[in-house]
Amino acid sequence: MPKHFLSLMHYCLALIFLFITNQTGAQSSDYQAEDGQNQQIVLPVRQICAGKPWPQIVWIHVHDDEQTARQVAIQTLDNLEQGCLVDLPHGGQREISIKNINVSYHFDPNRIFTISGRKKALKCQQGDCNLAMDQLTQAVQQLLNRYLHQAKLIVAIHNNHANGLSVLHYRPTATKANDVRQIAINPDQNPHDFFFVTTQQAFDFLSQRGFNVVWQDNEKVQDDGSLSVWSAQHKIDYINIEAGVGHTSVQTTMLAAVLNYMHTYYLH
Ligand SMILES: [Zn+2]
Repeated sequence: MPKHFLSLMHYCLALIFLFITNQTGAQSSDYQAEDGQNQQIVLPVRQICAGKPWPQIVWIHVHDDEQTARQVAIQTLDNLEQGCLVDLPHGGQREISIKNINVSYHFDPNRIFTISGRKKALKCQQGDCNLAMDQLTQAVQQLLNRYLHQAKLIVAIHNNHANGLSVLHYRPTATKANDVRQIAINPDQNPHDFFFVTTQQAFDFLSQRGFNVVWQDNEKVQDDGSLSVWSAQHKIDYINIEAGVGHTSVQTTMLAAVLNYMHTYYLH
């Protein structure tokens, strides 16, 4: 093999190595809440970090089937080389299913943050259902204590489907109107791409920039156990970035607006 060809090959290998190293910037560290009986994980939590975490700001992704949201968050962190995402990987489904010798049950991981929400969300199929509730409560407490109780701002990232949730469900005559304090709809935006927030500060900041925004009525909202309800109960500024599945560039733009918000109110 000619010598210059070999050095070209070395050069290409070096480039590929650099590319791979760059692509895997975000590191994850796993943390698992176990049920204490047979080591099955009730809430499989990992933290993916691209650098130093932000003080008192948590980004979180809970629905494992919402891949666009996870990719947008991780790509953004990689570009920033800073910050962390709390992620719940659980087999690519929306719900988490637990099956062991004592009990089998399943639940939506965004309906478990309050006690009354958990009672409704836990679907126990067979076995010791009291044990299931104890296991789930313990796992939620660990997640809250470790990542969320200290937060001043929580940024959740979600996707919805073409026939699923949109900002239109929160209009004054629509099904979720009772949960709404104020709403801003921009007809130029896709109704599936919207923010759901718990403070006037976030509502004003994001609606002034032309986004669809729903401000939750923190007194009247139905306690469905979701993180927005828990955040309101604990007076935590909460922003959910909802975008249609596959709306990568829109969701990236929405996350950039939240970064701007972070710098305006939390990181100066
Ligand atoms: Zn979701």
